[in-house]
Amino acid sequence: MKPHDGMYIDGAWRTPAGRDTIDVVNPADEQVIGRVPAGTAADVDAAVRAARAALPAWAATAPAERAARLAALRDVLAARKDEIAETVTAELGAPPQFSQNVHAGVPLAVAGSYAELAATYSFEEKVGNSVVHLEPVGVVGAITPWNYPLHQIVAKAAPALAAGCTIVVKPAEDTPLVAQLFAEAVHQAGLPAGVFNLVTGLGPVAGQALAEHPGVDLVSFTGSTAVGRLIGATAGAAIKKVALELGGKSANVILPSADLARAVNVGVANVMSNSGQTCSAWTRMLVHAARYDEAVELAAAAAAKYGDRIGPVVSARQRARVRGYIEKGVAEGARLITGGPEAPREQGHFVAPTVFADVTPEMTIAQEEIFGPVLSVLRYTDEEDALRIANGTVYGLAGAVWAGDEAEAVAFARRMETGQVDINGGRFNPLAPFGGYKQSGVGRELGTHGLSEYLHTKSLQF
Ligand code: NAD
Repeated sequence: MKPHDGMYIDGAWRTPAGRDTIDVVNPADEQVIGRVPAGTAADVDAAVRAARAALPAWAATAPAERAARLAALRDVLAARKDEIAETVTAELGAPPQFSQNVHAGVPLAVAGSYAELAATYSFEEKVGNSVVHLEPVGVVGAITPWNYPLHQIVAKAAPALAAGCTIVVKPAEDTPLVAQLFAEAVHQAGLPAGVFNLVTGLGPVAGQALAEHPGVDLVSFTGSTAVGRLIGATAGAAIKKVALELGGKSANVILPSADLARAVNVGVANVMSNSGQTCSAWTRMLVHAARYDEAVELAAAAAAKYGDRIGPVVSARQRARVRGYIEKGVAEGARLITGGPEAPREQGHFVAPTVFADVTPEMTIAQEEIFGPVLSVLRYTDEEDALRIANGTVYGLAGAVWAGDEAEAVAFARRMETGQVDINGGRFNPLAPFGGYKQSGVGRELGTHGLSEYLHTKSLQF
């Protein structure tokens, strides 16, 4: 895809207000593959005005028509699936097959689910002597990260559009190309001008301007907890709705009755997928003391098999961050089983799949989000100990429980302070609510729960 040198605002690619640009770098070979404009507050203002102007007509559109536009958008994304996968591989570094299946595949499922929901959802409900109307919140400002660059945009834009909101998206600076491709797809799908707008740019400039803009009614942010805190404070001061999808440090709890080999292998695959850059990754594996050594051996063998097939991490900055955590793990006394801080290749931002054993719950690598292919294996003595360790971080985004008996796993999962738990390897469900407890966020994405983030209620009494 050829990068655009403009912003997609009010249905066309507009000349940006400033001249600064952002280089897009392929993390596998460190070559510049494109350049996009670095938006300013003036570009954000133009985009928000366009979204505001388009709001009344779009909000008044029949849900069936919104559903038809979303179905058309899904079809365009399906027709351009290969191009999407190639673009994500080029700017994020994801292996081609993973880009096809996940980076291009999941947005199709999510866009399709909202096309269906827009057509079937009841935007009106009766409660006693009241009729409650579910109305669009208004103009949405969406700020997204690079780790699942298209999914993160679609998980906000599709429900916003289904609800009747209009939207301005500020994508991550490392992965703006697939965002531009998405804007093209919106255009091809025939969405009215101003309903979807895209401003590329730096977080502290364009992102901040969007979060602070008085014309934005809801800020929906996915990214780090540090930036989420800033955005939450800004939205709070303006008494504005906010949705925050933040970091995670999820536990993969393997109970003594579990199929150990399966639990470990699936757990390692979960952490290594997308080079460890998944907010919901199960980066802490919790194993009973009696089976600990066996689990560590299995984990090391599973991780070593990946080699550099997992692809690079997104940037030099991210690689330095991940290597810093690996060094800290060693310094704090964790036992490095496989991988390590050394670069496995001369070129590209690669990190070796890394496994640490003898990790204790208070170590930095067991508490902080690393966002790289690094697994910590922790030992527990009994179920209460496992629960205390699983719940013992500031995060609560996801997790997994494995047991011989499903009911046993469910009973444990019910006591975890986290937004979603996979039982014995349960599959990703694009209709299930996704979001965090504690500092992992505020609000939910996907399915009907995700749709309701973009709706206000208005009660009429009779
Ligand atoms: P980040 O917070 O640095 O950036 C996310 C987005 O915020 C980018 O678009 C960036 O430009 C923008 N931004 C940065 N500073 C800003 C500011 N001051 N004001 C407004 N916008 C600003 O995060 P990242 O490094 O891009 O992504 C990694 C983080 O995202 C990880 O912590 C990860 O766990 C989290 N994440 C969470 C989820 C989830 O659903 N919970 C999903 C993906 C990623």
